[in-house]
Amino acid sequence: MIIHEMTHFIQSYPGNKNDTGWLVEGIADYIRWWRFEPESPRSRINFEKATYHDAYRTTAAWLAWVSAKYNRGLVPALDLNLRNAEDPIPTLTKLTGKDPQTLWDEFRAATEKK
Ligand SMILES: [Zn+2]
Repeated sequence: MIIHEMTHFIQSYPGNKNDTGWLVEGIADYIRWWRFEPESPRSRINFEKATYHDAYRTTAAWLAWVSAKYNRGLVPALDLNLRNAEDPIPTLTKLTGKDPQTLWDEFRAATEKK
């Protein structure tokens, strides 16, 4: 929790004109749960309701999976976009070669069967 809020402090992004609040919260939880507390247990995602833009742990889990599979520099690159008040989605697509929904569908397929 403290790490999540500290991440916001470090993030201190300019205005949110690209409607990226879900990603801001997702990165904050990614930093907390995948960088600082990778061993702690986490709740399962309900894929009947969840989307990649749910923010918090759902977005964080998706970012962690996409980063591991496609590009380890993904989250830092998205972070840079947010700092510059740029739309991060073109960067996501460029670094992975896929759109967010396709990446979510792949994440779901890989996660649900476990
Ligand atoms: Zn937050």
